[in-house]
Amino acid sequence: MPTRSAVAVYARISQDRSGEELGVKRQLADCRAEADRRGWVVAEEYVDDDVSAWSGRRRPAYERMLTDIAEGRRDAVIVWHMDRLHRRPIELEQFADTCTRAELRDVVTLSGDVDLAHGDGLLLARLLAAVAANASDATRRRGARKAQEIAESGRPMMGGPRPFGFTEDRVTHHPGEAPVIRETAARVLAGESLTSVTRWLDEAGVRTVGGNPWRTQTVRAFLTNPRMWGMRVHRGQVIGPAVWEPILTPEQGERLRRVLLDPARRTNRTARRYLLSGMLRCGGCGSTLHSTPQNGRRRYGCTQAPGARTCGGVFIYADLLEEFIVEAVLFRLDSPEAHRAMLEAPGDDARAADLAEAISADTDRMEDLATMFADGDISAQEWKKARDRIQAHLAANRREFARLTQRDAVADYLGKGDELRGAWDSLNLSRQVAVVKAVLESATILKAATPGRRGLDPARIVPTWRV
Ligand SMILES: [Zn+2]
Repeated sequence: MPTRSAVAVYARISQDRSGEELGVKRQLADCRAEADRRGWVVAEEYVDDDVSAWSGRRRPAYERMLTDIAEGRRDAVIVWHMDRLHRRPIELEQFADTCTRAELRDVVTLSGDVDLAHGDGLLLARLLAAVAANASDATRRRGARKAQEIAESGRPMMGGPRPFGFTEDRVTHHPGEAPVIRETAARVLAGESLTSVTRWLDEAGVRTVGGNPWRTQTVRAFLTNPRMWGMRVHRGQVIGPAVWEPILTPEQGERLRRVLLDPARRTNRTARRYLLSGMLRCGGCGSTLHSTPQNGRRRYGCTQAPGARTCGGVFIYADLLEEFIVEAVLFRLDSPEAHRAMLEAPGDDARAADLAEAISADTDRMEDLATMFADGDISAQEWKKARDRIQAHLAANRREFARLTQRDAVADYLGKGDELRGAWDSLNLSRQVAVVKAVLESATILKAATPGRRGLDPARIVPTWRV
């Protein structure tokens, strides 16, 4: 048996109702064992999560693996079952072509019946995939009629693990989990990050139905599942009201979907360390200020780096500035101006929904273009031209979308300045950032009039308010 030293292992969380990740651990364990058995060295494990019925189109890990294969960084692939690797025959074609071009012949599956280590293995895989597609079609047809009937009556589908928030009958609210769903939703709608609420769930000891810790993807999946606001979903579509009572209101549900399914937000940012990171501009050159502590004291500053066009002339101590900005933000939340601004800028749910659609369509178009370019269907120039045009759209739509959804965040804090002031120190950084961002777009920091001055000179701070 040939030795392989840069093996790719691929696993995918299949689309199941509860969004559990039990399956993937087993897939990975089995694949690792197979690599050991063959004396192969695993270079990377690629794991995709397409749990959400709404956003299952993208598989970033799979794409990354294809790129690694195409560029010659992988010499074998181990996957638990072919159906983990490909959902549509066209994907298999693409995969097969990539492997052929990269001269990667060792594609191993663990379902017991296929080993593609020799000769025309990929051709065999194609045939098997075609057969598998037919078989699942037949099975689906048999079950489809019954499932459709149940769905139209609004009753839940039984089988598989129960959904989070509901007891085994899938109708009664789970007394421990339903309140958790409400609080999680409220925090996200108030602008807290998914990373932060996921950490909170973890620290509060809340587990998934399968007893696992939460991940941002699985939290997003339950918060955007229309089941939570009393809708019956069938084959990825809302088909009508369900028989169970909603845990969240439909309005909350729509807002959650808008906020959480925007492709621009689908990245896990690393935790920020400073309250005003990214919100401060240099009054000298306009660039973003960065955290630059000095002698153990936190500072924001215009930092000079080789090749960067920054002036390096503005620094301000973080503690005094943050105290000042927070006070101004909380004051502003209770001000008549903020209320008036809200009234004058009514939300437009239909527009936001249209924008979310357009953003998602443009993102898909970008992927299609990249595929066409990779396949040689279009030239680099054509690709670049089309991409630039779509990117301009995308940027404009994202800006407007952000403005519309931002309004929701402000609404949650308006008139609560005093209340927040009392609880400020007990809020975690992510929630503090959410409050500040709801009101403050950015602040420009001017150069110090008298360098070395001890206190804070408020005249140096020029805020741009959202409301
Ligand atoms: Zn500067």
